[in-house]
Amino acid sequence: MASARADASSSAAASEAADVVVVGGGIMGLHVAWSLAAARVGRVVLFEKRRFGAGESGKSGAILRQHYSHETLIRMARASLARYRELHERTPGGIGFTNAGMAFVAAAADRDSLARNVALQRRCGVAVETLDAAALRRFEPRARFADDACGAFEPEASFVVPHPTLAAVAAQARAAGATLHEGRGVAELESDGARRITGVRLTDGTRVATRTLIVCGGPWSAALLAQVGSDLPLQAIRPEQAFFIAPAGHGTERCIWADLERGLYWKSEATGFTRVGNLPYDQDEKVADPDRYDEGVSGAFLADCRSRLAARVPAYSDSICWGGVSALYTVTPDAQALIGPVPATSGLFVVSGFSGHGFKLGPSVGVGVAALVTGGDPGPLEPAFFAPDRFARGQAQSGAYGFSVLG
Ligand SMILES: Cc1cc2nc3c(=O)[nH]c(=O)nc-3n(C[C@H](O)[C@H](O)[C@H](O)COP(=O)(O)OP(=O)(O)OC[C@H]3O[C@@H](n4cnc5c(N)ncnc54)[C@H](O)[C@@H]3O)c2cc1C
Repeated sequence: MASARADASSSAAASEAADVVVVGGGIMGLHVAWSLAAARVGRVVLFEKRRFGAGESGKSGAILRQHYSHETLIRMARASLARYRELHERTPGGIGFTNAGMAFVAAAADRDSLARNVALQRRCGVAVETLDAAALRRFEPRARFADDACGAFEPEASFVVPHPTLAAVAAQARAAGATLHEGRGVAELESDGARRITGVRLTDGTRVATRTLIVCGGPWSAALLAQVGSDLPLQAIRPEQAFFIAPAGHGTERCIWADLERGLYWKSEATGFTRVGNLPYDQDEKVADPDRYDEGVSGAFLADCRSRLAARVPAYSDSICWGGVSALYTVTPDAQALIGPVPATSGLFVVSGFSGHGFKLGPSVGVGVAALVTGGDPGPLEPAFFAPDRFARGQAQSGAYGFSVLG
């Protein structure tokens, strides 16, 4: 590896040292730590200020689909799907991997985008079936579809359950040799006069010397990076989720839905509830301090979700609502993550801004980030696609359906 050999002697005050320090024990930090340890880069230490999954990852829908507008994302989702399936098989008790299949339904306005994405998926080896209105009605006779509706079905789409998955990834990272801490937060990033990372100071005052620091802090990343003068465009927002009891006869088949016409997605949760959320997030509240946000949802949101869902699947008009929960997304201007070196500070990497669709990409992100550090093969992750400085260079990505969790 280029610069990460630990140098504990660089400061007399150092009480710990690591070749690589990872900040954050969400799905990204844990996958990154696992891949780095597996790549034998030396001492890899992860600090999580609360507990694994305390941020976005713990409330994730954790849907693993391969429908995207970009080849690198499809290939990353595909490789990650296989890794999650493997992890489920090798974890005692599993990680809740459920092969549910996922249906996409669109109005005429999105017909061309859907067809383009399906063609891209097929080129990447993804099994996907297109559905016209008659096929949609046969596929889900309990739903209403206009005569010009179109859709697609991805049989391999699946979901996992976040907390057992986070625990399993953490166990793999430890088995590969990484040291993971919960309840230890990073308070300060340290750099020298030449703007090279030299270490971090923890909230308990401990100094940890390192030359390579990877910030996987989800919604907290922007504030951490601001300490070294970075102003990368990472914004925390507060999406709401509703939970309904599936009407009799629904939910058991477990198919996941993305309804582009209604702007909704829904899926059966392991608890038996149907989780419903918005695909677009441009109306969601911006959150200034991720440590303090309202975790509740409004009655207006629940009523609006019910009415849009019931317009598609009428039986939801009187199903029992179990309220909802608000969560956090970290979004970027083009709905794609920032992965790579932070401009103007050497030894500092950012892995954040997954804009509501990162869980499924975690394994490929881990492999790709380890390669950025070691100079190895990043697999399907194309570093240029995620380059943190792309906005400054006028090279933002674009998505077929605008900016939403569909990426
Ligand atoms: C409601 C919801 C539904 C979603 N549904 C899906 C889906 O179906 N499919 C999908 O692929 N994705 C989905 N996502 C998105 C996905 O969950 C996120 O993209 C992903 O979890 C982001 O992980 P992360 O590790 O980047 O961030 P986080 O999970 O937020 O992790 C960041 C961690 O860093 C820690 N931290 C912060 N600052 C410090 C510090 N100074 N020191 C130490 N630790 C620190 C935090 O405590 C936190 O645990 C969903 C997200 C939400 C919220």
